[in-house]
This record gives sequence, C-alpha cells and structure tokens, in this order.
Amino acid sequence: MAPTNDRASTHGGSMPACPFCNQATRADRPRCDSCGQDVILACPNCMKPIHLWETDRCPCGEGLRYYIFFPEGIDHEGLGQRYALKERWDAAAYHWSRALQDGSHIIMLHRKLAQAYERMGDSERANYYRQVTTTHS
Ligand SMILES: [Zn+2]
Ligand SMILES: [Zn+2]
Repeated sequence: MAPTNDRASTHGGSMPACPFCNQATRADRPRCDSCGQDVILACPNCMKPIHLWETDRCPCGEGLRYYIFFPEGIDHEGLGQRYALKERWDAAAYHWSRALQDGSHIIMLHRKLAQAYERMGDSERANYYRQVTTTHS
C-alpha cells in the first residue's frame, strides 16, 4: 500500500478532529459532539458509510471533500443537492430533512423532498410534502 499524506492529521490525544469544526469528537459517535454535524456520511457513489475523521475518500474512489466542504461551512441543503445530482435520492432526502430542521427555506425544501420521494417511487410521501407546500404559502 502506498503511503498517503492527504489524511487529516490529529496531533496528540486519541480524539479525532471533526472535519467541519475541527474540534475533537468521539470516534464512536455518528455526530460531532461540538457542532452536531454528521461525521459519518454515505458515499454518494456507492453509499458505503465513510468516517470523515478517518478519510475523505471512499474505497470506491469517490472523493467526499467535494460534497462536504463548503467555503461557508456545511450546508445540508447543498449536500442534498449534490446527492441529488448523483441521483442518490434517499441520501438527498435525508439531508434535506436535516436542512428542514434548521427551519429555513421551508417551502423550497418541501418541494425538493417531494421530488426526491417521487424519484424513489414513494408517491405517498411525495404527496405529503407537496401538500405542505401548497398549504403553507
Ligand atoms: Zn464538529
Ligand atoms: Zn464509494
């Protein structure tokens, strides 16, 4: 195996650094203790869960850096959008649902969720999100 030097190095201590806020986080938790972001994400290409504090490249070759690093920080809406571009609707719906919890762009997110569930063949849920968008306006 060739040595890699693109790994995030964590100096001192056994706690890995969160890729989003750089604070030490517990390795056995799916979320960062400090910022609450998911530190285990599904690869948009093969859906294998990737531990972001270990690597940002999936064994399938897909680099996750593109999906998770935004100049202004992580954005679940943007992340969902990128999964959607890869037609990973389940992952897209997951992140759009997370974005909904932040309480902004509610109408737009419901539309996106309706589209995602439609693509997944879940017309019941698609209709639910569509109804929300029409009654909320
Ligand atoms: Zn964090
Ligand atoms: Zn992969």
